[in-house]
Formats: sequence, C-alpha cells, structure tokens
Amino acid sequence: MASQVNGHSSGSDAQGGKSLREDLQEFLGGEALLHELDDLTKVNPVTLETVLRCLQARYAADMFYTSAGCTLVALNPFKPVPQLYSPALMREYHAAPQPQKLRPHIFAVGEQTYRNVQSLIEPVNQSIIVSGESGAGKTWTSRCLMKFYAVVAASPTSLESHKIAERIEQRILNSNPVMEAFGNACTLRNNNSSRFGKFIQLQLNSAQQMTGAAVQTYLLEKTRVTCQASSERNFHIFYQICKGASVDERLQWHLPEGASFSWLPNPERTLEEDCFQVTREAMLHLGIDIPTQNNIFQVLAGLLHLGNIWFADSKDEAQSCQLMDDAKCENKDGGLCISFGHTPREQGSIRTSASLLQLPEDPLLETLQIRTIRAGRQQQVFQKPCSRAECDTRRDCLAKLVYARLFDWLVSVINSSICADPDSWTTFIGLLDVYGFESFPSNSLEQLCINYANEKLQQHFVAHYLRAQQEEYAVEGLDWSFVNYQDNQACLDLIEGSPISICSLINEECRLNRPSSAAQLQTRIESTLAGSPCLGHNKLSREPSFIVVHYAGPVQYHTAGLVEKNKDPVPPELTRLLQQSQDPLLKVLFPMDPEEKSQEEPSGQSRAPVLTVVSKFKASLEQLLQVLHSTTPHYIRCIKPNSQGQAHTFLQEEVLSQLEACGLVETIHISAAGFPIRIPHQNFVERYELLRRLCTRTSPGSHSPSPDEGHSEWSPHTKGATLQPLLQDILHTLPALTQAAATPGDPAEATPVPVHCGRTKVFMTDSMLELLECGRAQVLEQCACCIQGSWRRHRHRKQERQRQAATLIQAAIRSWLARKHIQRMHAAATAIKRTWQKWRIRMAFLASKELDGVQEKHVSQVPLPLGSLLLPQAQTSLLEAIIRLWPLGLVLANAAVGVRGFQRKLVVWACLQLPMGNPSSYAVQTAQEQAGVTSIRALPQGSIKFHCRKSPLPYADICPEPSLHSVTGFNQILLERHSLGHM
Ligand code: ADP
Ligand code: MG
Repeated sequence: MASQVNGHSSGSDAQGGKSLREDLQEFLGGEALLHELDDLTKVNPVTLETVLRCLQARYAADMFYTSAGCTLVALNPFKPVPQLYSPALMREYHAAPQPQKLRPHIFAVGEQTYRNVQSLIEPVNQSIIVSGESGAGKTWTSRCLMKFYAVVAASPTSLESHKIAERIEQRILNSNPVMEAFGNACTLRNNNSSRFGKFIQLQLNSAQQMTGAAVQTYLLEKTRVTCQASSERNFHIFYQICKGASVDERLQWHLPEGASFSWLPNPERTLEEDCFQVTREAMLHLGIDIPTQNNIFQVLAGLLHLGNIWFADSKDEAQSCQLMDDAKCENKDGGLCISFGHTPREQGSIRTSASLLQLPEDPLLETLQIRTIRAGRQQQVFQKPCSRAECDTRRDCLAKLVYARLFDWLVSVINSSICADPDSWTTFIGLLDVYGFESFPSNSLEQLCINYANEKLQQHFVAHYLRAQQEEYAVEGLDWSFVNYQDNQACLDLIEGSPISICSLINEECRLNRPSSAAQLQTRIESTLAGSPCLGHNKLSREPSFIVVHYAGPVQYHTAGLVEKNKDPVPPELTRLLQQSQDPLLKVLFPMDPEEKSQEEPSGQSRAPVLTVVSKFKASLEQLLQVLHSTTPHYIRCIKPNSQGQAHTFLQEEVLSQLEACGLVETIHISAAGFPIRIPHQNFVERYELLRRLCTRTSPGSHSPSPDEGHSEWSPHTKGATLQPLLQDILHTLPALTQAAATPGDPAEATPVPVHCGRTKVFMTDSMLELLECGRAQVLEQCACCIQGSWRRHRHRKQERQRQAATLIQAAIRSWLARKHIQRMHAAATAIKRTWQKWRIRMAFLASKELDGVQEKHVSQVPLPLGSLLLPQAQTSLLEAIIRLWPLGLVLANAAVGVRGFQRKLVVWACLQLPMGNPSSYAVQTAQEQAGVTSIRALPQGSIKFHCRKSPLPYADICPEPSLHSVTGFNQILLERHSLGHM
C-alpha cells in the first residue's frame, strides 16, 4: 500500500489519504499489535505487505513460529534458542487441553497430529510436510519433531515395553546423524544442506506409542560425489573420514594426513557436522557394527582415490587413453588440478582404489578405458577404446554408482533397524523433509525433478488449503465455493501430462536413443508444447533452453545434457566389474542377481522400457502423493530470514521470494479469491454505521428504518438484538455504493456481490472494503463540509456580534472622551473668559485712568500743535466732536506725527464710532493699528478713501453692533464729503 489501498485510491488529498489508510490499518489490525498476531490469515487485509510486516515484527520479538491458516510458518532464528525446544515445553504442549490455543509452535503441530491419531477420525494417519529453501530449517524442524514424538509417544506403563520404545526412539533419532553424514553437504546456502528428499514414517501402535519408523528417500544428488561447485563441498562423510580417522585407520584406508583429493574440495573448512565419532556411534546404535563401518569407510576411501585417476588424451582412436603419470594433471574442465606431496601418483591411485574396493586392478582400468558393445542378432561383443572424456565419465559413473547403492543400502539398514513389525503398528505420522523450489542461473534435470515435486506438493497444498477455507466459510454459514480458482494444473500438465509433456518428450529421446542435440530437444519441446501457457522461451539465452512458469516463478532449464542425465546410463561392464569385487560390502551392494543382470544389460534388440530418472522419480512421487492423500496433511513452511545465516536480520525481499516459493503467496491469492477481509459484526457496524446516512440520501425508502437510529453505544444485552437490523441497514447501502462506483460499460449486476454476512463476521473482498471505505470517506466528507459550514456560520455570527459590541463600546468611549474634552474646554474657556473679562475691566479702568490724565493734561497745560486733535472740555462734547470728525481723526491717527499710544487708539475708536458704553468690549490691537489701514487718500472733491488690509479675523470687518451710520467694507472705506457733513 504505497500510495494506494489495495489498488484503489482512497482519497484525493495525499495527506488525508495517508491518515485514512492509517486509520483503516488500525481498524483492521493495529500496527502496534502486529507481532501479537499469531495467525497470518488474521492480518487485515491479507496482503503480502501486511504478512511480511507481521512476520518481521514477530521475528524482531523473537517469535519464530506463526500460523498461516492450516500452515505453520517457521522462521529460522539462526541462533540457539534452547528454551524453545526444551522437554518441559514439549510436555506443556502435550498436556495442554487445547494446544492450538498456545503460541504457534512445531510442538503444537506435532501434538495436533498426535491427537488426531488418538481421535481415530478418518483419515487417521497424519503427515507433516516440511518445506523451504535450503538452510531454512527443514531438517532441524523434522529432527525436533522426532524428538517431540520420542517424548510424547513413549509412555508405556510396563518397564519392558518402555525399554523397547526407548530403544526404538533412540534408533530413530540416531538415523538422523547417519543420514545427514551421507546425504548432507555444505553448499553456498547451507552448511548442512540435505541433498536428498526424505519421508519418515513414524509408526504408532493402537495405544499411540511409537513402535518403529521407516525412511524413504528421494533423488539423492549423487553427482556431488564427483562434481562440486566451487566453494561447496562433497558429502560430509568424506571429510569426517579424512579428519576423524585414527592413525591405524588412515593407514588402512590410505588416507595419509594432509592428502589431497580432487573430489574433496575445501577440506580446510571445519564444520560442526564433521564429527566422525557421532556418525560412528549412531551407526553402531543402528546396528552397523564396527567391521561393517570400517568396510563402508574403506569403500569411500577407494572412491576418493578413484577421483585422483586422470587419463591422458590418446593419440590414436584405436588406442585406449593412458593414465597420466605426472603429478600435475589437467582436470576435465580444462583447469589445473594440483596434486600435493602425499598424493599418490595416478598409477598409485588406481592401485590404491582397486585395493580399497577389492577389485582387480587391470580389469578396473580396462573397464574405465574400453567400452563393450553388444550388437547383432548373436549379441556379438565389440570393444571400443573410449576417449579421454568418456574415460572420465565412466570413472565418475563408477563412483556415483557405488555411492548411490551405498546410500540406498544404508537407508535399508536404517529401515530394518527402526522399522517395526507390520503387525505391531496401526497408524503413522509422516514427516516429509523435502527440498524446496529451486531456481539457479543454470538448471538441469535435478531442478526439473525438484520443481516438479514442488508443483505436485503445491497442488496438494492448495487443494487442502481450499478445503480448509471452504470449511471456514461453511462454519460461518456462507454458501460460496472456489469453483473458479485456477490452480497449477496447467504447469503440471506441461511437465508430466499425457500424452505429450516435457517428461514424456525427454523420456522419448532416451527411448529412441537417437543422437539429438540440445537445440533439437529445445525445438522439439517448443514446437510440441507451444500451446501451453506455462511454457516460455528466453530469446536472449545463447544456450538451448526452455522456460517453465512454475507457481513460484519462471525457471529456465538448459537442454544440454538433459537426455543424458535422464538416461543416467550405467555401462553394464561397470556393474559387472563391481560384481567381481571381493569386498563384502560391494558384494552386498552389487549381488550377482540373474534378474538384475538381465535388467542392467539391455540388449540392442530387446526393447524393454528404459527406466529413466524422470520416470523413476515420477513413480516415487506418485507413491508419496498417494500416501499424502490418504493422510491428514499439516504444513510447516520454513523461511530463512536472510541468506547469510545471521541472527536478528530480516531481509524482506528474501523472505518475500520464499513466501512465493513455498506457496504462501498463493494462499494469499486464494484468500483474495475468496473473502480475505473478515470483520466481526460489531466492529463492522461501529465503523460503517454512518453509511446509513448515504442510503437515506441516495435511495430513500430502500431500507427499513433502524429501530434505534442514532445509537452507537453498545450495551451487552442489546448488542445481539440491535446488530442484525443495523447490519442489514448497512448492507442495504451496498448496491447504491456499487452502482456509484461502477463504470458505465461495466454493469454492477454482472459482478457477484463481494460481501457475505456470516454468523459472526462479515466476509468481503478487497474491492468491497474499498467501496465501503470510499462510502465512509464520502459520508465523513459530507459531515466535515456540514460541520465546516456550521462552524463558519457560527464564527461569522460571533464575529458580527463582537464587531457590533466593539463599535458600541468605541462609540460610548468616544462620546465619553468628547464630553470630557468639551467639559475641559468649557472649563478652560470659562476660565479664559473670566480672566479676559477681568483683564478687560482692568484695561478699561487703566484706559479711563490714562484718559483722565491725558484730558487733564491737554486741557490745562499743553496747547496742541497744528493738525493735532483738539479735545473739548467736557468728555461728551469731546467725543461728539471726535465722532463728527472721525475721518480727520483717522488721518491724524495715521499721520506720521500726532497722537501716540492710548490716545491714538482712542482716536481710532472714536473714528470708527465704536459705542462708548463699554469701551472694554472692543480691543484695538496695536499691531492692527499699523496694519489695518494701509493708505488713506483725501481726494480734492472732499472724499476720503481708506484702504484697509483684509483682516484675518472673521469678524474684524463687521461692526459688532451695527448702527445705521456705520460704514462697513472690507478693503476700502469711502467717505464722501456729504456724508461727512451729515456727521
Ligand atoms: P534445511 O534442512 O532446510 O536445509 P537446516 O534444518 O539444515 O536447513 O537448517 C540450517 C541451519 O539453520 C541449521 O544448521 C541450524 O544452524 C539453523 N537452524 C534452523 N532452524 C533452527 C532453529 N529452530 N533454531 C536454531 N537454529 C536453527
Ligand atoms: Mg535439510
């Protein structure tokens, strides 16, 4: 869910979408609780991403086992976790009333199988299929399970039977180190990689006590004896012998300290698996005595020496290739094989090998060098010297033949040692430790067989998983089936189908025994099987190959050597040679059996069906599947969290590819094909109850009104009663939702309704969940819009009220301030007025006082000069005179000489006819006296013109108390003589 939820965009807003996703994630299964989820099918939604996150969270919390429906996923801790496998824990799981309720564990699976056997419900027999990549922990798991059964399935009452059971258990447990020593090797992926498949059948008697076991093995990688990839090793047992043998044994087996063998690469690496003593002890417990053991190791030493035999190119085709007698020899791949000091020379190698294998030296060499051909009706025998490559192939073939027979013999010995009398057991628990799906840069017949087996097991698993899913639906009362689910049948048809398939074509090549190149085989496969959807072709590949699209991914198989490997030809003369051996073990491995003889010597004439590797493998696989089909299967998928084998390291990509390979991805797809989302009724109603609003709006009346509309609180007693109508109400909205989401060309009714209401849960598909979430988001958006609108309205109203209140307050304050100001101004004005009046009165008093002084002076003492104002004696008459002669007075007042000071003012007053009642009410400013009249002109006709400057004062030109005789004007006062006369 990078930017989308299950492929559908969940919101336009990226951030909003994210929070919605998180919300949904939390609803479906809280992230914080992810590691507490015991079952991967409970992650919601069941997608790869959530499954991976859950596994990672659990791994970080040291929880290595997780259920995945009917499967147990086991993560390899890559560190010892002793408490996880303690006998006490085994007993806890064994004693638990419901072990599946405990934490997921292999012991829970073990206990479940054991109880199934006890319950005797058909099918009684159980099988545990442990699969996974190399190094994922399959062998470890099988070993632990065997230990578990050894503890739980062994509590016989009598001491005698207890001892028998203990011995059997010990033998079963001891089979592990032996089989691992001979069948396991260090590979790039796993230091203890099992190079064979194995099915262990733990046999139980009617009292469910373990009475015995049987081991069946599949497809041992015998080529490893002669050919190991760089940085890999041969089977452990070779190293164990070389490192663990005593001095005497070394002498006996010609294994001097520090000897180098070309089939023993990387001997310097010491692994914990290189424990010769443990293998020997285990063999002893299995009944393989010391002489037989020594015999086995001697034969193995013989094989090691055989690997040091190298042939030189022959100069002549008629001549057989001679042994290289130099210490340096080129190996068959063209590289140089450096022999060390102690390495016996080739001549010595063949001799040592022959002596260790107790074969005559010359026939041994001859068999490697010369091919015997029987031809013609009389079965005439021809001998043909082999080329150097053929000699090498025959040498390798001899070693592989011996080792494969030895391994099979060991398995049979183990079986005879641990197998119970067929009458003594009634039921079994099978443990299949099978190699997982493989895809390498270069894949051949081994990988084809392994992947074929995995396809088969996957089909079995899918069928089982589908059945389990179907059962869950049935429990929930869902009538639904996976009829349309496509399993991997198409791929299986391509590999093993009839009449034409890859297997049949390869077998055909072997049967016809015609010379055909790798390219021809590729063309034949491609042309014959062109119609298969699982067949592909890599155009870029230079080597002839074909691609098979497996359930776990496409794998490219090279056709070169495929037919040869399938034939796995064993030249009859090699078998004959080995039959001549005097070695007791080889005598057992290669008995002189007339039946076998005829089988191993197919004449050119007799057309007995060739038993190819593929057909043998197919037969054993079918047999295995038959066994599995007759049992109740349990699956354990082992997962390697990283390929470096480090603890506390979880690499998502690597785990993902393994989840794909082990079919868990497929189960997720199956889950997705059904109803991967399962939500309990109450959770469903709580989350989607609001969808009813949508329904009310989109299709009114399409549902019955809920009895308790609007109630979202749940009380236990009303829960059951209220859930159903609410659920139905919500489910009624779905058609409207589906219609709204459907595109015009895609009618909604064409698709089945992807939601089902089970008894306790609502089942739905991812797409339905998307729809529901979209609808929910839509309702939430509408609610949000509504809330936003109401809020805006409310805010607006509130702001308006606040604004009005503020205006009112402001106005009140302003008016208060204005009033205060006016009051202050008024008080000031009153004060000024009062002061002014006081001052005027004072001035008037001063003036009158001054005037009194002047009058007295003028009247009594000083005769006025010419042109000066003559003041009458009495004040009244003086004033009248002044009034009458005021223009003259003005002239005088403005003349350069004349009265000064207050007298001048007085003259002006008089001239202007200012009323004399209250002289203090008129101010004559001194400055104005100069500025007021700018010029006076007396005209000859007798008129006088005063030119006044306009007063800046508004009332200066207006006589405050206008009288009839007053003369007003702004800039000019014209006094005519006649008007003067009137005055
Ligand atoms: P496989 O059989 O799948 O190839 P193994 O069972 O051999 O892998 O496991 C490989 C290694 O991983 C083991 O040798 C062991 O060291 C380690 N291992 C596997 N499972 C566990 C476990 N449950 N606890 C501790 N170590 C384990
Ligand atoms: Mg293994």
